[in-house]
Amino acid sequence: MDYERIFQSEIESLRAEGRYRVFADLERCAGDFPRAKRHAREGVGEVTIWCSNDYLGMGQHPKVLAAMREALEACGAGAGGTRNISGTNHHHVLLENELAALHGKEAALLFTSGYVSNMATLATLASKLPECVVLSDAMNHASMIEGIRHSRAEKRIFRHNDPEDLARQLAKIAPGRPKIVAFESVYSMDGDIAPIAELCDAAERHGAMTYLDEVHAVGLYGPHGGGISERDGVAHRVTVIEGTLAKAFGVMGGYIAASAALVDFVRSYASGFIFTTALPPAIAAGAHTSVRHLKASSAERERHQERAAATKRALRAAGLPVMATASHIVPVLVGDPVRCRAVTDRLLAQHGIYVQPINYPTVARGSERLRLTPSPVHSDADIGRLVTALSRVWGELGLPRTGTRRTHGLDTPQRLAPPMHVAHARAEVALS
Ligand SMILES: *Cc1c(COP(=O)(O)O)cnc(C)c1O
Repeated sequence: MDYERIFQSEIESLRAEGRYRVFADLERCAGDFPRAKRHAREGVGEVTIWCSNDYLGMGQHPKVLAAMREALEACGAGAGGTRNISGTNHHHVLLENELAALHGKEAALLFTSGYVSNMATLATLASKLPECVVLSDAMNHASMIEGIRHSRAEKRIFRHNDPEDLARQLAKIAPGRPKIVAFESVYSMDGDIAPIAELCDAAERHGAMTYLDEVHAVGLYGPHGGGISERDGVAHRVTVIEGTLAKAFGVMGGYIAASAALVDFVRSYASGFIFTTALPPAIAAGAHTSVRHLKASSAERERHQERAAATKRALRAAGLPVMATASHIVPVLVGDPVRCRAVTDRLLAQHGIYVQPINYPTVARGSERLRLTPSPVHSDADIGRLVTALSRVWGELGLPRTGTRRTHGLDTPQRLAPPMHVAHARAEVALS
């Protein structure tokens, strides 16, 4: 058996399709974000990052860094064990209390990442509730899909952000069976936002639990950074709120917030929680400081929204095909994987601007795009340089602009949402 050949031929097929992933070798510089050093064969250069999920720059916030240094000096490097066997540090307990309060829930539970929190929680709930059916939004993140799959529970996919389709599907399930409706608030690639209240209406009518991934919203929306569910005043209607400490909060780790009994149940049964070392105390302390800071301060959130709007405006004025979004995400459509990579290669090589191309299976084929994430630390000059560079590259590659006949109307999200079978296939491929 020639194992090496199998690996190589699989890699070759990715290359042939233009979806082979190349990592940018970055050295983030605290205090200098969005600037970073980039290591390449030619040497070390400076780049401006336009695709980070450190949405608010909290990864370099002086208060967060100070809390991490302090906890590192006080407690040492690692947690020293799993949560059950000597690894529970007081910083974990403080952080869990803070997160429960943030979402108005009785309890919260930390995981080593948002991915693990989705995977472990959904796998545990859906496998332990007898005869459970999971209703999953067609655009759900791979971590939720993995958890549902791992549970081996029956799964039904409802049309993206469609409460009516959800209600129709719920009505077909025997009333006595446990049901979990799993969805996100802000979808990170299209930047659209779920109608949480309407989805809860349907779920409540049919006695279903709701599981909401707020990974791209916590810290960013709501008066205290409690996410879209806080902004919309519906957090109390959602059974489980899941979030990350690694995106807007700028550190690392994931969590769920829910009733005391549900959290205790997951704590007691979830393999992905039990059999792994707890987060380092310094991480928990940094995340705690970040959550607390953003609970009290809305300045970062306001500036973030303002920067996103300014970026969209500037791109649109240059005739670049920005997809309309109701969130901070700024997707620019290219529609082809090879050209998408060509755009980002040129931005990097000729303009020192780093944007990772987003290709299938992260998005549907034909909707390949740039996904720009403006932050409070991106200046007007940064936006100006981005638009000038992008405009030049667009011209060099002969890509279509908006305002011309051919591309008119491309910036409506409905037209770009893939049909359900495509999204479903995408989800399946992401896991295979
Ligand atoms: C990034 C992401 C996750 C995983 O969170 P991490 O903390 O990075 O593991 C979960 N859900 C969605 C929608 C995400 O985009």
